Amino acid sequence: MPKKTSPSWSDATLAIHSGEPKHKRNTSVTAPIVRSANFTFADTAEMKRWAEGKSQAYLYTRYGNPTLAVAEEKIARLENGEAALVTASGSAAISSALLSVLQAGDELIATRQLYGGSYRLMRDILPRMGIRVHYVDANLDGLDQLVNSKTRAFYVETPTNPTLGLVDLKKSVALARKHRLVSIIDNTFATPILQKPLNLGFELVVHSATKYLAGHSDIIAGAVAGSRERVGKVREMMISLGGSMDPDPAYLLIRGLKTLEIRVRRQCESAMAVARFLERHPKIQRVHYPGLPSHPSHSLAKQQMTDFGGMLAFDIKGGLQAARRFCDRSQIFLLAASLGGVESLIVLPIYTSHFKLNQKELTAAGVSPGTVRMSIGLEDASDLLADLKQALS
Ligand code: PLP
Repeated sequence: MPKKTSPSWSDATLAIHSGEPKHKRNTSVTAPIVRSANFTFADTAEMKRWAEGKSQAYLYTRYGNPTLAVAEEKIARLENGEAALVTASGSAAISSALLSVLQAGDELIATRQLYGGSYRLMRDILPRMGIRVHYVDANLDGLDQLVNSKTRAFYVETPTNPTLGLVDLKKSVALARKHRLVSIIDNTFATPILQKPLNLGFELVVHSATKYLAGHSDIIAGAVAGSRERVGKVREMMISLGGSMDPDPAYLLIRGLKTLEIRVRRQCESAMAVARFLERHPKIQRVHYPGLPSHPSHSLAKQQMTDFGGMLAFDIKGGLQAARRFCDRSQIFLLAASLGGVESLIVLPIYTSHFKLNQKELTAAGVSPGTVRMSIGLEDASDLLADLKQALS
């Protein structure tokens, strides 16, 4: 029996208390890890009921598990969806979500600036399955002309990886509704703390929960949220494709979610301090951070996000050589892929998320050889600034 939660609770409270088992006398404070692949039935009558779809009993962890259900309820509540699903990775969440909507002969429209892995899925895999993908710029110009009778879905990522471009959420929903497209958004960078796309009318939200939701760089995980019906279809696809989460990482995801709100708020604060420092630095050509008034989407960010996030990127004067020198000299910032953890990280997108992209594709993604992407962690902001100063000197 899950605990009752109040609709008036804020994100910080929901993240801690929603989905948790009801606390009775002398029960554990934290949710147990139900480390079992399968579940017993009381008798054959219950087995029959399950087969007829009349029982909610757990069968097998690939289909569902009580520990996973705690994480799912927290994510559903934070995203304000009827339901959520956790998966083995963000990529499993994205592929299961897309394939729950698309089939051979269908077409998809996606924003051009995407996480490299999502882009490679759309460029290399979906066409092999008979699904054609069209791309629009972040301003969504020309979308109307790309729609035809085969177009089924619209996929958006905002803020974008790695250069923090913004897509207008309200405009995206309006266009999707106008053309009856299923709208899907990757909310990994913003998290539900900074934007809640389902509230604006998006139909499915996907996450790499590896990042902020889990928050400690120690698991690979994904999540999908939306209506019960849509998430149910994604679950069916996930069960068939096999991208299910195990109970141990689910426990770490639950633990991470409990501090999501406070982590994200602090990361936003430090990212703003870092962005301001870099913008004033003579060796920096351009800073990409939606919190800076110089960012082309600053006013849109103020409208659709509650803060500007913990991710930023910058272009260093001197291109790749200068970017490599900076990365190799930094002491606190770890040179590592991924994002959203407690450690501050730096990467060169051309060697990580955007490897295997040709020059035209890199330009379209706004990535140059001297682009450095940063994920701001939870270290003291003044220590981060001191490290940046010495690495740039
Ligand atoms: N979406 C975004 C925005 C990402 O940055 C990533 C990974 O870097 C993914 C999806 C894929 O998630 P995962 O690595 O958990 O499969």
